[in-house]
Amino acid sequence: MAFSTVNKEVFGSEEAFATVKDLRVTFDSGKTRSYKWRVSQLKALFDLTEGHEKEIVASLYSDLSKSETESFIQEIAMLKNSCQAAIKELKHWMAPEKVKTSLTTFPSSAEIVSEPLGVVLVISAWNYPFLLSLDPVIGAIAAGNAVVLKPSEMAPATSSLLAKLLGEYMDNSSIRVVEGAVDETSALLQQKWDKIFYTGNGRVGRIVMAAAAKHLTPVVLELGGKSPVVVDSDINLKVATRRIIAGKWGCNNGQACISPDYIITTKNYAPKLVDALKTELEAFYGKNPLESKDLSRIVNSNHFARLTKLLDDDKVSGKIVYGGEKDESKLRISPTVLLDVPRDSLIMSEEIFGPLLPIITVDKLEESFDVINSGSKPLAAYIFTNNKNLKEKFVMNVSAGGVVINDTTMHLAVHTLPFGGVGESGLGAYHGKFSFDAFSHKKAVLYRSFFGDAPIRYPPYTATKMRL
Ligand code: NAD
Repeated sequence: MAFSTVNKEVFGSEEAFATVKDLRVTFDSGKTRSYKWRVSQLKALFDLTEGHEKEIVASLYSDLSKSETESFIQEIAMLKNSCQAAIKELKHWMAPEKVKTSLTTFPSSAEIVSEPLGVVLVISAWNYPFLLSLDPVIGAIAAGNAVVLKPSEMAPATSSLLAKLLGEYMDNSSIRVVEGAVDETSALLQQKWDKIFYTGNGRVGRIVMAAAAKHLTPVVLELGGKSPVVVDSDINLKVATRRIIAGKWGCNNGQACISPDYIITTKNYAPKLVDALKTELEAFYGKNPLESKDLSRIVNSNHFARLTKLLDDDKVSGKIVYGGEKDESKLRISPTVLLDVPRDSLIMSEEIFGPLLPIITVDKLEESFDVINSGSKPLAAYIFTNNKNLKEKFVMNVSAGGVVINDTTMHLAVHTLPFGGVGESGLGAYHGKFSFDAFSHKKAVLYRSFFGDAPIRYPPYTATKMRL
């Protein structure tokens, strides 16, 4: 069963309460704990995706004008891989982990048992509305929880497709979709959950965390930030430029949480880098990128106006060195590069989340560390260099959710790495086993026998005992 405000069903506190109650009955029955149930639901999620690829692509096109290839590679294939990995690894993930014990408890044995948390809530964002909705759900199911998914209302076609497909394919006694916006999410947030997994901006992240605190509910917050790219001069410029473009405009036209937000390079190297960006951008998107079918549009007119404001700021006037074209009627903005923007400009004071890429210049590349560390901790930080010393310094001195050397965004595809932020870019992590762990309680279990009962533990605490 899926609730949908699109279908004009009302979803308020009562409905939210009833939903959690229903799911808790199922969870308490023990149904979702079995390996068999978990695998069956993960397979259903895979089948749902594989069986409806065309509809998924169409809904992503309707919401964001995402190209078919981008939708397939960055949403559908990623989700299917995630599902398959979870199915393959599940037995191993579920197995208790034996750990050493200490002399104090001799003789004994101990293990960590992963236990499902209960009924969990996943609140998702609009920019990768298929992947970001279902990827956390994979973790929730794999860990044996009942789950409610609240997709983003800002990607309405994908939201209603998810509601329809999950209604058809999944066990609705334990997996539900609730569509809706602020009112519906607020009604959900009033309930007592066993975990809330939220993807989106930090302002709402704070609302989610405050609501969760009322019930001492743990949260994962997958937020954003200004992810920097440091560019050295000893690099393969063509490859570096192509990888920056792929991570920026090739990821939903910059509307991705780990897209490069700004570049830092030296004053001397900047002109070379700008030339390379111009050449490769034109090779990828042609002379009229507003017409390119390989670039997503801006999600809606509010975000279009927000991005326009960043460009209209007096402080960046005359700084555009490439692009800057807009078509409001089609919500399109072309790939835009700005050189030497002041650090107190609007574009440098908030996450850009769009196709604008400012470049900051410094005298020496080492200064980039201070530039990055003077702001909030980003979700990702990238550096292009062949200098071993600089790579090491970057890894050790730059705090970010994840760091990639000589590429952008690709750590997302490595499921043995945790994906999550630090500080303002988020709390907690997921992907692969980390998703399973995010939705599990790690229960400490100590096994003892009746042997080795040391009298020293028990009163009376005599002086002789104390000397032992
Ligand atoms: P959004 O507008 O889709 O909002 C996210 C969710 O919050 C939606 O489901 C929405 O219904 C809900 N919401 C909005 N206002 C609310 C309120 N007042 N109370 C309760 N719920 C509310 O997405 P967004 O926030 O614009 O997403 C963009 C941000 O998300 C960027 O900062 C981006 O970096 C970040 N992001 C992070 C990740 C990640 O994995 N770390 C992924 C994608 C996006």
